[in-house]
Amino acid sequence: MSTENTPDPTNAPETDVIEAAPPVPSDAPEAAVVVEAPLTGAVDMPFQAEVQQVLGLVINSLYANKEVFLRELCSNASDALDKARFLQLTQKDVTEQVGEGGIAITLDDKARTLTIADNGVGMTRDEVIQNLGTIARSGSLEFLKLNADALRKKDGGGVQLIGQFGVGFYAAFMVADRVDVRTRSMQAGAEPVIWRSTGSGSFTVAVGDRETPGTEIVLHLKDECLEFAKEWRIKDIIRKYSDFVQFPITVDGELSNRSKALWATPKAQVDAEQHAEFYRHLTGGDEGETPLLTVHWSVDAPVQFNALLYVPGKAPLDLFDRHRKGLRLYAKRVLIVEDCDKLTPAYLRFLRGVVDSEDLSLNVSREMLQENKTLSQIESQLTRQVLKSLKELSESDPDKYLTFWREFGKVLKEGLTLDWKNKDALADLCRFESMQTEAGKLTSLKQYVTAMPEAQKDIYYVTGLSRRAVEQSPHLEAFRKRGYDVLFFIDPIDEWVTKALFEYEKKQLKSIAHGEVDLGEDKSEDAKTEEDVTAAVAAVKKALGDKVKDVRISKRLTDSASVLVAAEGDPGANFERIMKMMDKEGVSAKRILELNASHPIVKNLSALATKDAEAPQLAAWAEMLFDQALLAEGVVEDPAKLVKRFQDLLIEVSNAAVAR
Ligand code: ADP
Repeated sequence: MSTENTPDPTNAPETDVIEAAPPVPSDAPEAAVVVEAPLTGAVDMPFQAEVQQVLGLVINSLYANKEVFLRELCSNASDALDKARFLQLTQKDVTEQVGEGGIAITLDDKARTLTIADNGVGMTRDEVIQNLGTIARSGSLEFLKLNADALRKKDGGGVQLIGQFGVGFYAAFMVADRVDVRTRSMQAGAEPVIWRSTGSGSFTVAVGDRETPGTEIVLHLKDECLEFAKEWRIKDIIRKYSDFVQFPITVDGELSNRSKALWATPKAQVDAEQHAEFYRHLTGGDEGETPLLTVHWSVDAPVQFNALLYVPGKAPLDLFDRHRKGLRLYAKRVLIVEDCDKLTPAYLRFLRGVVDSEDLSLNVSREMLQENKTLSQIESQLTRQVLKSLKELSESDPDKYLTFWREFGKVLKEGLTLDWKNKDALADLCRFESMQTEAGKLTSLKQYVTAMPEAQKDIYYVTGLSRRAVEQSPHLEAFRKRGYDVLFFIDPIDEWVTKALFEYEKKQLKSIAHGEVDLGEDKSEDAKTEEDVTAAVAAVKKALGDKVKDVRISKRLTDSASVLVAAEGDPGANFERIMKMMDKEGVSAKRILELNASHPIVKNLSALATKDAEAPQLAAWAEMLFDQALLAEGVVEDPAKLVKRFQDLLIEVSNAAVAR
C-alpha cells in the first residue's frame, strides 16, 4: 500500500501498515534499483492539515531557492548537537554521545540520495510524530500565506523567510520525493525509529535500527534535483550558508566548513590576516583586499550578541541603490538572514559583517520581519559603537579617516537628517571644505569652532554646486574681511543637512546667503564710508517691481555692488537648482536684492535718484545690479538681454569719453 493513497489526511485514524513502502521509482533514467528491507512495525499517519498546506506553499513558492533546504537541515542538525551538548552537561540519565559532535553529509550519485547525519539529541518515536507531522507554532501557516509573494522572489527575501517559520524541515521536499529519517533519542532506553514520507498527505513510522543517538536524514532526490548529489554543489552551498556553523560539516568525509565563528573568538586572538580573509569571504573581495576598519565586539546586556563588522575600503557601485545590502544575522552560529537590513540604519549600509545573537532563536518567527525588539536593540547599540569607532579612527589616523569620508561621507550625512538620537556623534564625523581650507582639504566642525575668532558667534556656511561656484560669491566678502571662515556645503545632500543640523556645540549654523547678517561695524582702516542711499533703494525697488521680494542695504558686501539673498526660511537658490536638476516640481521663492551702500555705483545711483526720481537711466542701472548679482552666482536667466544692456551702457560711457 502506498502512503500517497491515504484518502483524507486531516482526520484519518491511524492504520497499521504491515507492507513496506514502495521502492524508489525505477523508471527515471539511470536510476539504480535499490532493494530495501521492508519496514518493521510500520504505521501510516496523516500529516496535520496545516503541514500539507505549508508543504505546498514551501514547494511552490521557494522553487527558485531550492538550495536553502540544506541550510535548514544543517541548522536542525546543529540545533540537535547544541541540545545534546546541553543535555550531557545537565542530565545524568542520557545515552552518551558517540564521538565529537558533527554533521556528516554523504552523497550517492547512483542511488540518488543525499544523507545528512548528526550525532545530536535525536528523537523518540513520539517526538518524531510530533515534530515532523505537525507544526508547533500557531500562526506559521497564516504568515506563510501572507508572505507567499515574498517567498517567490528570488532576491526579495524568500531565502531569508523560510528559516523563520519553524517549518525548515519541510524544505527537504523541495528537492526530494521521498525523505527517510532514521533517528534515536539520547533519552535513556529510547528505541530507534524510522520516519518516511513522500510529502503527500501522510508519513510512515516504523521500528528503526540506529544504534547510537542521533539523526540521519536521507533525501531521495527528485529527477530535476540531481545536482544536489554532486559534491562541488553541496560544498558550495555549505560554504555559502553554513560555513560558520560551529560544528564541523563533512561532505563525503571531507571537512567543508570552517566551523570557526571568528566573531565569537576573543578579539585579541584574531589577527589582521584572519580578518582580511573573513572580510573577503563575506564580500567576495579580491585577493589582497582588506577592510578599512574592523569593529569587533560583544555585548551581554540587554541583548547578548557578538558583532564583527567591516567598513570596506571602497564604496560599492550600488551604494545608492534602493535595494540595500545588510549584515549577516546568525542566531547561535546558524545563519538566519544573509542580508539583514534591520541591523543597521540605512546610512550605515556600507557595513559588511556578522551579528550573532544568543537571544534570537533560529526560528526567529514572524515578528522578525515586522518589529523585532531584540533586533532594534542590537541596531541601536551597533550604531553607537560604529560611530564611536569611526570617531576613534578620525583621531588616531586622520588620513585613513579622510579616505573613509571620501568614500562614504555622503551616505553618513544622510544620518543627520534621519537619526536624531545620534546627531551629535554624526556631526562630529562630518568633514567639509571651507573658505580657509585649501582646495581639496577638509575641516571638521570641531576644528572650525576651535579656530573661530572671539567676536564670531555663529558657524557660517554657504551652499552651492562646487567650490569654484561658491568661492567667488559676493556673500563671502564681509566674512573674508573679518577673518571668519565659511563652510562650503557643496554636496547636494548638504542642503538637507542644513535642514537638520541647526547647531553644533551650542553655536548656530547660519547660511550666509539667507536672511540678515550683521557682523557689526567694520572698524578696519580700509573700511569704506557708507552713505545714505535710501533714494537708490527706492529707485531699484520701483524698477525691479515683483522680480524681487525686497531691496535693502547690505551688511555682507565689501567690494560688490549688489547681491541676492534668500529670506529666512526660504529655500534658497542652490536648493532650487538641485530640485530642478532632480526634475522635481519647483519650490521657488523670490529673493531679496541687497545693495552695498559704500559702492560708487550705488552711491551715484542714489545721487541721481535724489536729483531726478524719473531719470531714464535708473531702471537700466537697477536691472544691471540685479543681473550682476545673478552673474556672480553663475546663473543668468536671459544672457541676450544682459549683453544688450552691457552694450547700451558701453555706448553711453564711450560717447561720454569721446565728448570729453
Ligand atoms: P524548527 O527547526 O524551526 O523547529 P523544523 O520543521 O525544521 O522546524 O523542525 C521541526 C522539529 O524537528 C525541530 O524543532 C526539532 O525538534 C526536530 N528536528 C528536526 N531535525 C532534527 C534533527 N536533525 N535532530 C533532532 N531533531 C530534529
